[in-house]
Amino acid sequence: MDTAAQYIPMEPSEAVTQIHHGDYKDEDGLWHCGICGKARQKRINSPFFPKVVWCICDCRIKELEEQRQKEEYQEEMSRIQRLKDASMMASKFRDARFSEYQQREENQKAFRISQKYTAQFKQMITEGNPKTKEKNVGLVFYGPCGTGKSFTAACIANELMEQKISVIMTSFVKILQDIQGQDEAAYIGMLNACSLLIIDDLGAERNTDYALEKVYNVIDSRVRADKPMILTTNLTFDEMMRNPDIRYRRIYDRIFEHCIPVEIPGKSFRIIKAAQRQKQLEDYFS
Ligand SMILES: [Zn+2]
Repeated sequence: MDTAAQYIPMEPSEAVTQIHHGDYKDEDGLWHCGICGKARQKRINSPFFPKVVWCICDCRIKELEEQRQKEEYQEEMSRIQRLKDASMMASKFRDARFSEYQQREENQKAFRISQKYTAQFKQMITEGNPKTKEKNVGLVFYGPCGTGKSFTAACIANELMEQKISVIMTSFVKILQDIQGQDEAAYIGMLNACSLLIIDDLGAERNTDYALEKVYNVIDSRVRADKPMILTTNLTFDEMMRNPDIRYRRIYDRIFEHCIPVEIPGKSFRIIKAAQRQKQLEDYFS
């Protein structure tokens, strides 16, 4: 049933009442849209309310829908941007993407695991891992310096942020700087508010009791919050698993309760690139 209310915007805007080129009046004197042909006016024949009112044609409905979608898209993009701004990620990792991944024999396994981890992440943090039901399964990328461990972690981070999942990527060196003179519990609470915490370069922090106590606190509270983390380190598996120092042992034990070790072996990309440059120079001058 047509009712007056359906057709009368409270205050018909200019966009509703504006006559466009091509619009025409029918035999009843009511305006029609020149594009879709639908009525742009309607006569309300009610004894209480005899009136011609403006209505919205299909073109305007389409226009409004397109505008709504555009606004929704922009809102989504700015949400992603806000997530990226809050991620603490170093600018050199902002463009890390799986599509840019330089696959080699040595990093195939890490590449495959990372992609799978990313694809299953949302499900894991909501419903738990399909097998173990754990919601905080993490990864530890370990291997020599320069094999792309941080890049791999950053690929996961960027991919998840595109899915509007909050990620923080930082390092213990940075955390130890930031935490000084701050409310430690509040700072750790801020870290734990994100869905994924990535801590780059474990083992690069100073080995003082103070530093190692903070490192333990960050990791322990992450585990207690039942949320996942990813770590990267240049340490070897033995250095982590068979470290005689009790201060390190309790850190690594806590990490490996929920994180899967993923080795990225091989020669440093930096060394390979330097060798390539050397070769190019030699070829150039030979
Ligand atoms: Zn129209």
